[in-house]
Amino acid sequence: MTDINKKNASTIISASWIFTSNSEGQLLSDYSIVIENNKIIDLVHQSKVFDEYDADEIYQLTDHILIPGLINTHTHAAMSLFKGFADDLPLQDWLNNYIWPAEKTFVNSSFVKDGSILALSEMIKAGVTTFNDMYFYPDATAEASIELGIRSNIGLVVLDFPTNYAADPEDYLLKGFEFRDKWRNEDLITTSIAPHAPYSVSDEAFGLINTYSEELGINIHIHLHETQWEIDDSVKRYGITPVQRLNNLGIISPSLIAAHCVHLNDQDMAILAKNKVSIVHNPSSNMKLGSGIADVAKMLKQNLNVSLGTDSSASNNRLDIMEEIRLAALLLKGKTKSPELLSATQAIKMATINGAKALGLDSIIGSIEKDKIADLVAIDLNTIENQPIYNPLSTLVYSSSKSDVSYVWINGKIKLKEKKLVNLDEEKIIHMAKIWQKKLKKM
Ligand SMILES: [Zn+2]
Repeated sequence: MTDINKKNASTIISASWIFTSNSEGQLLSDYSIVIENNKIIDLVHQSKVFDEYDADEIYQLTDHILIPGLINTHTHAAMSLFKGFADDLPLQDWLNNYIWPAEKTFVNSSFVKDGSILALSEMIKAGVTTFNDMYFYPDATAEASIELGIRSNIGLVVLDFPTNYAADPEDYLLKGFEFRDKWRNEDLITTSIAPHAPYSVSDEAFGLINTYSEELGINIHIHLHETQWEIDDSVKRYGITPVQRLNNLGIISPSLIAAHCVHLNDQDMAILAKNKVSIVHNPSSNMKLGSGIADVAKMLKQNLNVSLGTDSSASNNRLDIMEEIRLAALLLKGKTKSPELLSATQAIKMATINGAKALGLDSIIGSIEKDKIADLVAIDLNTIENQPIYNPLSTLVYSSSKSDVSYVWINGKIKLKEKKLVNLDEEKIIHMAKIWQKKLKKM
């Protein structure tokens, strides 16, 4: 029976702990999140929530911690079909002799759609609710994102050389803008321009990209200072580092999302800090490709916004942001020999609100606050691995793993329930991946 003194809501989720990731890094105990449609409308203590609200769906998640949906700020989702295809190689050898030839043979719209479905399923199961992508055939990635109901910022790729997808920089941009027009009214999709890297895009193309980015008010997503080779090559060709070259071209600005930044000298770091660039730290990918370890402590000292990315399944093999949080914390402490640096709270913020800031979406996602969108993840801490719990944030960063992710909501809708993808046939996705594996094996 409906109580007329109570307000009706779509969903109420109660949990033992809620890490809000707000500016105070607040951790709430025994609170409930009240959701109406896709928005958080209230945060109320569990003892009072049902005095004030009725809801269509109610979740009582004892021994769980609720956190904002994780944001994977650097991906190439469709490359999940290249997972394990060429491992244990340095970046230039890996790209030139394996990944680019395989892309030439296999990458088309259906490869991207199927690869994206595989990747997005893996990400939702690991608590990722938003991903920042860069790949060919963006329509196919967008279709997969809408089908699975995950939030995406899709990078419109630009390269100097032709691929199956486009012929030259103008053609890449033209296709990108057609994409942007087609998907611009879709709630879950935003776009950025994604020049692949300084070594694969000319000054002329950067000129065009800069003009369009400013005119359309959209971000630029790029690989930057990933390897020492990239810097040596730039100094040979242009006499300056890639950061200095891009700065001369007007690309270094607050709208830049720079993936990697493993090797930065003091001058490069100062340019990025002065221009409030967002940096995406990809610890697993940088280690697997032997690129090095980014100096995140120095970035944080300069007040740079640092978020986390997995990069593609081909250079990481796991689209697991919880693992990147743990690695980011451990690597920073190890590199600086200062265990007090990067607290568990700061590490989780990198994968939530900092990712939202990088994408320019921090007014709607990235923290659990009234009027923000309900992108949420519940992690079950009632396991052998997670007990005992003295500090739930330490448990989350240092003990728990993606296998503890039990519920995911995106845009107010449930996408993972009791560790199972909602409305998706996991067997069918596994079968599809096996068919592609047979095709790629013949190469
Ligand atoms: Zn990448």
